[in-house]
Amino acid sequence: MNILDDFIQINPNGIYCKYGDFYLDPQQPVKTAVISHAHADHAISGNKDVYCTQATREFMHLRYHRSAAQVFNIAGYNQPFMIKDVKLTFVSAGHMLGSAMVLMEYQGSSYLYTGDYKLQPDATCEPIEWVNADVLITESTFADPNIIHPDPIEEIKKLNGIKSNILLGAYGLGKSQRLVRMINDHSPQKKVLIHHRIMPINQIYERAGFTLGKHQLYGRKLMKAQEEFVYIVPPFTFNSYIKATGVKRLFASGWKNLQVNREDTLFISDHADWNDILEAIKEVNPKQVWTLHGNGTHLKAYLNNKIFVKLLN
Ligand SMILES: [Zn+2]
Ligand SMILES: [Zn+2]
Repeated sequence: MNILDDFIQINPNGIYCKYGDFYLDPQQPVKTAVISHAHADHAISGNKDVYCTQATREFMHLRYHRSAAQVFNIAGYNQPFMIKDVKLTFVSAGHMLGSAMVLMEYQGSSYLYTGDYKLQPDATCEPIEWVNADVLITESTFADPNIIHPDPIEEIKKLNGIKSNILLGAYGLGKSQRLVRMINDHSPQKKVLIHHRIMPINQIYERAGFTLGKHQLYGRKLMKAQEEFVYIVPPFTFNSYIKATGVKRLFASGWKNLQVNREDTLFISDHADWNDILEAIKEVNPKQVWTLHGNGTHLKAYLNNKIFVKLLN
C-alpha cells in the first residue's frame, strides 16, 4: 500500500500517469487523455482517445467539432473503468455541468485528481461528491488564506439595487448558465438577454435537465429601453463595450483583477476558496496533498507536519 511518488508527473504535455500511460487534462494533443471538464484550459482538441463524461463530450463537440477527439470513451459518475492497470472513477466536482474529479486506484493506493471544483451550491450542475483517497491532488487556484469567496446569493442580489440595464460579463461556459439561474431565482424582475455565442451552451444545459429559467437571445433593439435588462456576454464582448452608455457594467468572477472597479464588483467564483480547500482535505482525508494549478505554498505552510504537501508545479 505504498503511495507511488511518481504516480503523477508534470511534463511538457501536461499531467502524466506513467502507470496507465495517460494524461489528465493534457495541454498538448496526446494518445490517451482523461478530461475532467470542458473548460478550454482543461479540454483541448486533437487528442486521440478521450475519456470524459457525457456532458463534457457535448461541450467539446460544440467547440471543436470533428477535432474534439478521435474516439470518445464516456463514463458516468461512479462508474469505474480501466486504463491499463489503473482503475479510474469519475466523481462529481460541482464545478460546472459534467465536471468530474478523477479517482485513480493502483496497487492498493488511491489518488484523487480534483480538476476544478467548488463547494458552493449551484442549481446548474451536479453537487460535489466526496470520496476518501490516500493522495489528494488538488487545484490551488485560490489556495490563499486571504481569499474567502463571499456568499454568491448576496452578490447576485446586488443586481436588485441597479435599476438601469446591466451588461454582465462572464465566461460563456458554466458561469453564464449559473448566472441565468441565479438571476431567475434572486432577481426575478430582471429580463435576461444572452449573447449568441452562449445560447447553444444554454441549450445543452437544458437538454441535460438543468433548467436555467427565463432568458432570451439578445437583440439590438431590446436594450434601447431601460427595462431592467441584464445582458450576459463573454469576456471579449464585455471588453469591447468598455465605453457603453446607459448600462452598468459588471464582471462576475472570483478574481479581484477582473472586477470593473472597486465599487462595481460581483464576486461569484466557481473554484474552491481557502476554506473550501481545507474542507476538501477534511472530507477526502488524504495521507498526502499534491497541489496543481496555482500556488501551494500557503497550504504547505499551514499543514506543516500534519499532512505531507508536495507542490507539483
Ligand atoms: Zn474550470
Ligand atoms: Zn481550470
